[in-house]
Amino acid sequence: MFVCPECGLAQPAQGHCPADGTALAPIGEDVLLGTTIGAYRVARLLGIGGMGRVYKGVHPAIGSRVAIKVLSRECSDRRDLVDR
Ligand SMILES: [Zn+2]
Repeated sequence: MFVCPECGLAQPAQGHCPADGTALAPIGEDVLLGTTIGAYRVARLLGIGGMGRVYKGVHPAIGSRVAIKVLSRECSDRRDLVDR
């Protein structure tokens, strides 16, 4: 599977995004890329930190962009970190 890093559209084959022409990137082993979390499609991994990962999320209808923080498994077991 491949994903558009611009809009998060998932595609079965390599090439360019049919919506915006951006070159598609392979999803690899990242199970979140190309999926939808809440109202946002997960388009690209922005960074990895001590508490987890940050992804670029794109709203498919209005195009707004957000940062989606995903806690690592170790951190997601800690109530204080989840609350934060
Ligand atoms: Zn796209």
